[in-house]
Amino acid sequence: ATLSVADVLADSATRCPGRTALVAGHQRLSYGDLWLAARRYAAALREEGIGPGDRVALLLSNTPAFPTAYFGVLALGATVVPVNALLKADEIAYILRHSGARALLCAGSLLGEGERAANRAEVPLLTVEADDGASGAALDTLAARATPVETPVPRAPDDTALILYTSGTTGRPKGVMLSHLNVLLNIDTTMLSPFAMHTDDVLLGCLPLFHTFGQVCGMGTCFRAGATLALMPRFTPDGALDLMVREGCTVLMGVPTMYIALLEAAAADARRPPLARAYSGGAALPVRVLQDFETTFGCPVYEGYGLTETSPCVTYNQSAWPRRPGTVGKPIRGVEAEIARAGTEHEIVLLPPGEVGEIVVRGHNVMIGYLDDPAATAAALVDGWFRSGDLGMKDAEGYLTIVDRKKDMIVRGGYNVYPREVEEVLSRHPSVAQAAVIGVPDARYGQEIHAVIVPRPGAAPHASLAADIIAWSRRRIASYKCPRRVEFAAALPLGPSGKVLKRELVALLGAGTG
Ligand code: ATP
Repeated sequence: ATLSVADVLADSATRCPGRTALVAGHQRLSYGDLWLAARRYAAALREEGIGPGDRVALLLSNTPAFPTAYFGVLALGATVVPVNALLKADEIAYILRHSGARALLCAGSLLGEGERAANRAEVPLLTVEADDGASGAALDTLAARATPVETPVPRAPDDTALILYTSGTTGRPKGVMLSHLNVLLNIDTTMLSPFAMHTDDVLLGCLPLFHTFGQVCGMGTCFRAGATLALMPRFTPDGALDLMVREGCTVLMGVPTMYIALLEAAAADARRPPLARAYSGGAALPVRVLQDFETTFGCPVYEGYGLTETSPCVTYNQSAWPRRPGTVGKPIRGVEAEIARAGTEHEIVLLPPGEVGEIVVRGHNVMIGYLDDPAATAAALVDGWFRSGDLGMKDAEGYLTIVDRKKDMIVRGGYNVYPREVEEVLSRHPSVAQAAVIGVPDARYGQEIHAVIVPRPGAAPHASLAADIIAWSRRRIASYKCPRRVEFAAALPLGPSGKVLKRELVALLGAGTG
């Protein structure tokens, strides 16, 4: 059998060529137009000598150039290497070299870093869209002259479609290789649920397209369904609310920090978009935020769990069974998620319901491996299972609860403390908008528990509030889990996929307390 992720766009262009695929600013692109543009890029890249199996890096923000280049590269049978648009030249150059990219496609404000990275890695730079003054060849000029590629080059199911680099919070970034089958099945199994994307849907494209969540769950399912993607170059809560109202967005996909920010924006703006469903993932969604969002926007929020290595969706709270807020639901079809004893490196010992252990995943969504990293691959893929590095628990009915990341667990005086549990309690405090709990080095207990709090608008960040927050937690959870110190911040440092960068907080606070 042969297939291609490029069929996601090609099929919709055949089925509904006139429907709007993309909205970006004042620009609207139909499926027919988008696929034609992608096929032109494919033809231009082919003339540059790029063919099946070659790797092409994209350093592009959320503009039409991203999907055009992405599906153009895939149509050639080549592999897409999306690069995090927040990286600096040296970091980009590392990825270009490591992936053996044949070209870097870059545009707009990213050209500065992109050009430096391409020079350092000695990889040809191809500029897309407006490219005044840049040194590389302009892909659009080449594309205008080229005869569009007709159909996607067919691939074997196990051929690599994407290489997605992890954010590298635990060392150098690793290149996650995902096959065409990985990606197509992840799109199709999440779309099979009765609450999946429909042709009439309009999805807010606020997640970055270079990251797996926005790319596969967002753009992938949207284009598979022939729905409309309303792109945002950069998330701001007011901009998101505005765009959702203007375009009549029916679906929202976001990370928890976006939900929190949207709730604040909605408190000052009475307009509401016609949202029918919202999906949260990437980090833990506090139950209070889920409930507030559902009340404020009048639509259910489905929380899911996934990783770049699992294409990304592992589980989500779909409506085929009663939704259980606070859990991340059950595995998608064809995928198993189990709990294994943590600490056993070379074997997988599965644990019964109710016990906390490492989440392990088996099924069509598990990556091929890490590019050129046999040691990391062997550590992650054990006995046919993928070790997620996350701690979790399953109940008797199969609902999965994320306990925390293995590496974020705090050990205080010999007791394990899961920051997530404490954060969940703190975020229910009426003056707390966001809470991050971390372990800082402590001479007596090994690690001590600190909380960084973003107060709700109007709440004064005084010592009395800090004391009140600590007292609040002491009434609700065991004393050894409670923060000993509370600091206030205007915002939390966030990574590219919307996660709180705990290591930055630890460094910050660790330095301050000494
Ligand atoms: P790195 O692994 O290099 O730090 P990253 O965190 O950006 O990079 P991703 O693949 O984006 O990697 O994120 C996957 C992680 O996100 C999971 O391992 C898990 O810790 C976290 N996560 C995803 N969904 C949820 C959820 N619903 N609740 C809690 N955590 C989640």
